[in-house]
Amino acid sequence: MSDEAQLEKLARQIVVCTKCELHRSRKNAVPGEGPTHAEIMLIGEGPGAREDEQGRPFVGASGKFLDQLLEQAGVTRSDVWITNVVKCRPPGNRDPLPDEVEICTSNYLQHQIKLVDPSIIVTLGRFSMGLFFKGAKITQIHGQMRKVEDRFVIAMFHPAAALHQMSLKPAIMADFAKLPELLKEARAELGKSSPRAKVPKKKTTSRRK
Ligand code: SF4
Repeated sequence: MSDEAQLEKLARQIVVCTKCELHRSRKNAVPGEGPTHAEIMLIGEGPGAREDEQGRPFVGASGKFLDQLLEQAGVTRSDVWITNVVKCRPPGNRDPLPDEVEICTSNYLQHQIKLVDPSIIVTLGRFSMGLFFKGAKITQIHGQMRKVEDRFVIAMFHPAAALHQMSLKPAIMADFAKLPELLKEARAELGKSSPRAKVPKKKTTSRRK
């Protein structure tokens, strides 16, 4: 089965998933979307209210801000694969619980990362950062690119946090502005050219229930 077909299969499993308690309150699970072999994968925390309504990632206010951040880095939404740590909205926008994170990432996110096989993962917020840098503080490591196994990971603030706390906005804007340069570094280190030869610009889209 092709990587694209496997991503589609995962999306079909996610929209009907009942593996953790978060399925009880969701309207729509949000599997994620993007080109099958995107060079950059963005991982947020979990769907918000608008994402839960639409079954797509980053479609609310923070999504609009994310689009601006990507644009200033010369990247469009259609170039990146976007998903979340948990695929269903935690009720009342609470933090996802450790067992919810464990169940969802081991069943879905880890497979999505392997299939998309990005050169760079950008974690948005402390929950996705925690998957790669246990015990790290986002205020100390944001914007720094670190090698994790066979790819690079950069921790950044979540766009929603920057919208609520204006003092974070310059930092997230500066971190995103570095993305083209960091991508060049990552390509050189990983011995990959631009654009990646294996990239078909076909989208693996999320599906709604
Ligand atoms: S959050 Fe993840 S594990 Fe939990 S029900 Fe949704 S898709 Fe399944």
